[in-house]
Formats: sequence, structure tokens, C-alpha cells
Amino acid sequence: MPELFIGGRWTAAVDGHVREIRCPADGTLVATVDEGGPKDSAAAVAAARDAFDRGPWPGTPAADRGRLLIRVADLLERDKDAFARAESLDTGKRLVESEYDLDDIANCFRYFGSLAASGGTDRAVDTGDPAVDSRVVHEPVGVCSLITPWNYPLLQTAWKVAPALAAGNTFVLKPSELTPHTAIGLMRLLAEAGLPDGAANLVLGTGPGAGAPLTTDERVDMVSFTGGLATGRHIMAAAAPTVKKIALELGGKNPNIVFADAEFDTAVDYALMAVFLHAGQVCSAGARLLVQEKLHDAFVDELVARARRIRLGGPFDEQARSGPLISAAHREKVEAYVAAGLDEGAVLRCGGRRPDDPALGDGFYYLPTVLDDCTPGMSVVRDESFGPVLTVERFRSEDEAVALANDTFYGLTGGVWTQDSGLAQRVASRLRAGTVWINDFHPYVPQAEWGGMKQSGVGRELGPAGLAEYQEAKHIWRNTAPRPQRWFE
Ligand code: NDP
Repeated sequence: MPELFIGGRWTAAVDGHVREIRCPADGTLVATVDEGGPKDSAAAVAAARDAFDRGPWPGTPAADRGRLLIRVADLLERDKDAFARAESLDTGKRLVESEYDLDDIANCFRYFGSLAASGGTDRAVDTGDPAVDSRVVHEPVGVCSLITPWNYPLLQTAWKVAPALAAGNTFVLKPSELTPHTAIGLMRLLAEAGLPDGAANLVLGTGPGAGAPLTTDERVDMVSFTGGLATGRHIMAAAAPTVKKIALELGGKNPNIVFADAEFDTAVDYALMAVFLHAGQVCSAGARLLVQEKLHDAFVDELVARARRIRLGGPFDEQARSGPLISAAHREKVEAYVAAGLDEGAVLRCGGRRPDDPALGDGFYYLPTVLDDCTPGMSVVRDESFGPVLTVERFRSEDEAVALANDTFYGLTGGVWTQDSGLAQRVASRLRAGTVWINDFHPYVPQAEWGGMKQSGVGRELGPAGLAEYQEAKHIWRNTAPRPQRWFE
């Protein structure tokens, strides 16, 4: 069956191109899928435009839209095993992690379904004039281009698709060319749940080929993108001539601050998880460890000892705790950042190379790496390497910790570890980041907004603001007793 989904029909790419999808854990062929290009994207935009302008979805009562999304959550739970397996084969991530993701994905659909069904944020406005009936209502933005990355393929997709549909939009989804399978599966479930034809469209293909037209087409009203900073800047500029609404989630270089009084064993454990989860391919990763001077040596020694013991392996290796990087090109990028860090004076404490184990030789593995004695100017500290690479810096005072933490053009997340709740709260309020964890790292819930300050992005996903991104507020003013005004007399 062809894999592009346009106007409610499964279709092959106009130019007949296909792409082999290979598992990053061992290079085995997962499947061959259709590879769309500009003509397919144009057809998908036309279908989404038509469905928005003439189809039933935007005018469907919000409560019914909500019910459909809750049905999608039920279907995702029904098909959880197949989705988790598909996600792991495309990304190489451990099956158990894909299973966690699937729970979060179903929750995301359930949350936005409930939010839509609850009636939303429309409100009456008191104008002070009893003859005026004034209301602010929320309407869908229109046709949305949703462009998603390879690290959490279906999760990032759900964070966009669920609120976009809850608000009554129609969309064209373009997942990463490397990880298309769960997006294909989601289209099937949306159709099964009863979404009208054309409300959801899927184009597969590369960023420049299939993605770029979705950011410039004047029939598109909004672009929501998650991915790298360079691509985000590019997309923002591409969307500017037609003044599209923009939502961007562009990652981070997130500080994890450990004060000397932190609970030692837990803080070490979480510092490892913060950075090495999914081989560091996480936008919220705690990739910059800031440790108070007097704790530094003991903390880093213990962390390095435990990092050396992390077992690497493929999705179905139950002993493995971390998997491969997504591609050969991505591993080379990570290697280049580590080499630059060492050139600039960082001290390699562990990792810094590919594993020796011949069983891992066909995958894109890279050992968990700790670089000590780092300084803020190093490129490995500044830029998102998006790999299993932890940089360590020291601080003496609270002010120095905050200054180092905020010395980044990103602002997505941050963590602070201390048993002093006053200190924790002060630091949390001074960090310029969209999410701050105190004595924790990585958790999120669909009810709470997610997004970045500074160059980590524009707008918010999840929470009520995540729905508002996909809405336009409209003020309707009704004069119930109009009389001539005689303004010009
Ligand atoms: P990109 O930002 O290039 O890709 C993200 C998505 O955008 C993909 O679907 C991609 O398509 C698409 N895309 C690329 N170029 C364009 C374009 N001109 N117009 C429209 N869509 C486009 O991520 P990469 O995979 O190249 O990763 C680069 C870096 O981005 C990583 O090393 C990491 O630092 C960061 N990153 C951040 C993520 C986050 O969660 N914030 C997630 C993933 C990466 P395709 O890939 O199919 O060509």
C-alpha cells in the first residue's frame, strides 16, 4: 500500500521515488516507503485547504472534536505494541522507551480531547454598555504545516496533531525522512476514528524536497516545527513573506546544576539519566553539568564510573540501557564536537569513541562521554551536539551557577539539585528556561506548557497555551440597540 496520505487517499509519490528505511541499531532494512517531493506537498496543501474551507471539520462542535481525539487515544492504546515496535525499528531506541512514549502519546490525545470537549476559553466581555453583547471566541488558524524530527517521532507529532485537530484545523504532516512509520500508522488511526477526508494529510520526504514547500505555500496559515536551530531559522525566514503564524521548538543546551548539599546518590543517578537518555538525542537533555567546586571531584568520579557501565544495545536487547545514534552523519557530527572540545582544552574522562564490541559494529553507536574542565566558550558546551556527551563546569557561588547556566543562547530546560528549598526556588526563578526541574530531570505532563525562551523557540506546546497556538481569537461585538450616531453631522 502506498504511504502518502492526501485528501483521505493513500497514494504513491508523483515522481515515483522511494526511500529505504534502515534500523540505526544494525542497518537492517525496515521497509521501503514512498518519498514525496514538492508536487506531493502541493497536493497535500490543496487537500488540507479544501477540507478547511469546505469540509466539516472546522465547524464540527468542539465537544465532538474532543470525542474523536479521545477515540484516537483508545486506538493508540489498542495498537500500542505495534506502534512501539515500529518506533524502535525506525529510531533504534529501546523498546521499553518506545512503550513509555506510547503511553504519553495516548495521554496527549486524551488531554487535548478533554480540553476541546470542556468548551474552551470563549468568554463574554463586559463593555460597560448594556446594549452591547461582546464575546471573544476562538477559531482554528486554518491549514497547518506540521514538521517533526526523528528523535521522538510520534511524540513530537502528537504534541502538534492533537491540539491542531482539537482547535479545528486541518494539517499536512511531514515527519523526518528517517522515521516515517508511526506517522503512517497515526493516519490510519485518524481515519478509523472518523476524521473527515482531507483534515489530516501526510507527505513523506526530505526537508528541502517535501518540507520546504510547506513553509512557503500561501495556502498554508501556520507552520509548527520541531528540530534543529539552523532549520528553525531557515523556516522562520521562509514563512515570513506570507506572514504565517509560527511555532518553533528548537532544542536546548540545558544546564543541570548540582549544589554541594544535593542528595549525592540521587543527583548522580539523575545526572546520568539527564544526558544519556536516548543516547543524548533529547531536546531537553541535561548536557551541561554544573557542579559546585567542593563536590566536583567526588561527584564526577562517581558519575564517570557509572557512565562506563552503561550497556549499549539495540531495541530488543533487554540488558541494554542506551541505543545508537540516528545515523552515520549524526554520529560524525557528535564526534566532531568531542574532537573540538578536546582541542579547546576539555579533559576526556570516559567515552570519546565508538564501542569496541563487534556486535555493535553495524549500528551508529557512540560511548557515553564525559568531558571535564569545560568552559562556556567551547563549541561542545555552546552548541547542541545531540549525542551522549556531558560537559562539566565548576562553580563556587549561587550567582556564578546562575550566570553559567544562563550563558547560552538556548533556554529550553534546566535542573537544580539542592536540599535547600529557598536556594532551589531562587535559582529556579532566575533560570531563563521554559521548564525548570528541582531535584528531578525530564518529567513533563500534557497539562503543563512546554517550550523555550531565547533561541530555543517561539510559542508553547502542551497545556492550554499549546491549544491556543492553533487558535485565532476573534472578538464579536453585537450592538443590540443600534441608533444613528450622526458622527458627520
Ligand atoms: P532538522 O532540523 O534538519 O529536521 C527536523 C525536520 O525538519 C525534519 O522533518 C526535516 O526533514 C525537516 N526539514 C529540514 N530542512 C527543512 C526545510 N528547509 N524546510 C522544511 N523542513 C525541513 O534536524 P536534523 O535531523 O538535521 O538534526 C539536526 C540537529 O537538530 C540535531 O543534531 C539536533 O541538534 C537538532 N534536533 C533537535 C530536535 C529537537 O527536539 N529540538 C530534534 C531533532 C534534531 P528531513 O530530516 O526529513 O530531511
